[in-house]
Amino acid sequence: MTADARRTREELVECGRLIAKKGLVVGPGGNISARCGGLMYISASGSSFEEATGDDYVGVDLATGQLVDGSKKPSSEVLMHLACYRKRPEIGAVVHTHPPLAIAVASCGVTLEPLFPDFAAFLGEVPTLGYVIPTTRELAEAVESVIGGCDGLLLTNHGALTVGSNLREALFRTELIEEASRILIAARSLGSPRTLSPAEVEAIRNLGSEKYRKQLLEQAERG
Ligand SMILES: [Zn+2]
Repeated sequence: MTADARRTREELVECGRLIAKKGLVVGPGGNISARCGGLMYISASGSSFEEATGDDYVGVDLATGQLVDGSKKPSSEVLMHLACYRKRPEIGAVVHTHPPLAIAVASCGVTLEPLFPDFAAFLGEVPTLGYVIPTTRELAEAVESVIGGCDGLLLTNHGALTVGSNLREALFRTELIEEASRILIAARSLGSPRTLSPAEVEAIRNLGSEKYRKQLLEQAERG
C-alpha cells in the first residue's frame, strides 16, 4: 500500500468515527469516499462507521469503476460516488449520511434556504431530489444531474450528500445541512423565518473572512 493510500484510509476512518459520534447515521447506514490519485477509497459494503478500520475502505478505479485495492466489496452506493468525481474533477471527497432532521425536512417537501451566514458561505443552493430507491443507477444519475451546480443536496426519504475539496470540508457541509434543518424546524415552530436575500448571500460569499475560513478548511488536511 502506498503512503498516500494509507493516509487516505486513516482520514476516512477518522471521518467515519466523527459521523457516528455526531449522530449523522445509525448502524451501517451511510458511506464516504476520498480521492487518492486515480482512485477513490470508499466504505466497504455493510461496514459501520463506528467500528470501521482501514481495511473497511477499499480502492476503486475512478475511470473503470473496478475494485483495485482491498478484499471487501465496495459500498452499494459506489455508482453515486463515482458520478460525483466524474462530474466534479476538482472535488476530493464525498460524504453520504442519513441525518435525522435533514430527512425530516426533505420528507415534508421543504427546501433548505439560507437562514444564517455559514450556510450561505459554505453551501448556497441545496437542491432536494425526489425519492429514488437507494443503491440504484437511477439514484446515481439523479445525483449526477444536480451535483455540477451545488456542494450539497437532500435525498427525499433517504438522507444527504455533500462534496468538498477534502473530507473535512465535505463533512462540515453535512453538519451545516443538519444544523440548517434544526434551525428551520425551530424557526417554523415560531412563525415564518426571514431568509437571507440573494444579495445578502452574495455579500457573505464575497467576505474576505469567509474566504479565509474556506482556505483554512482546505489546508487543514494538507497539514
Ligand atoms: Zn443512504
